[in-house]
Amino acid sequence: MKRNLTTAIEKWVAGGLKFVGQLSILSLPEGGYELRHAEDADKPDLDTFHSPSKARSISFFDNAGEYRPLKTAPNLQHGWRLVLKDAAELRAALDHFYPAMTAVWLSHLENALTPVALRDTLNRQTGMYAATKRLQDEEGQELVGRACAASSCTKRILWNFGPNQPLTTLEADKLPPAPHNESKPPSQMPLLCHEACNILVAACREVVKKRERAAGPPPDPSAAHPTPHPTPHAAS
Ligand code: SF4
Repeated sequence: MKRNLTTAIEKWVAGGLKFVGQLSILSLPEGGYELRHAEDADKPDLDTFHSPSKARSISFFDNAGEYRPLKTAPNLQHGWRLVLKDAAELRAALDHFYPAMTAVWLSHLENALTPVALRDTLNRQTGMYAATKRLQDEEGQELVGRACAASSCTKRILWNFGPNQPLTTLEADKLPPAPHNESKPPSQMPLLCHEACNILVAACREVVKKRERAAGPPPDPSAAHPTPHPTPHAAS
């Protein structure tokens, strides 16, 4: 059955959805929707835009004008509002702010989302990222606790460290949300991480490379098996 994400979003908002990541959503009395930074709820003098594509340029930079490599980092810029004429525009704007996150949430609600353990993600890396296969458990857990903490990323993590290894270094609010109650939809749509992002994979590589650089070059195999000295010729 083909699913309709726009209709699903329309229903979520009608059912009480008010927040997505750092965004607040308001249904306007005249029809349509408004998006703004949730912390700008009471600010009167926001810059107003009417195109969902404006969400893309807003999402690129933080308050200081610095580029945001991770769209789900908790540093979305303030000071704007987007007025959108219908649910299709709302869907498009949400997808610019948080790519694929509404579709992932719908898949989660339909029990159609398969999380991928970090070890599985790393084990299929090739080229320069193949080094991530050598990530040690302890350094990997420590890295996830730092790189994926709430202060770095607003997503909740569905994946395990390894197929039978839970994550051990994250706060409870970073782990999977409570099962969804159909009769009481949440007012906040969680942003879900079902597979490690490229930024975490690159950080895994950096941890491995740093350890290996510190350890120095691998031992010279010829030193362990020195070339035998030639047998001296018998004196004639
Ligand atoms: S792996 Fe997921 S939770 Fe961690 S930083 Fe990337 S997107 Fe966020």
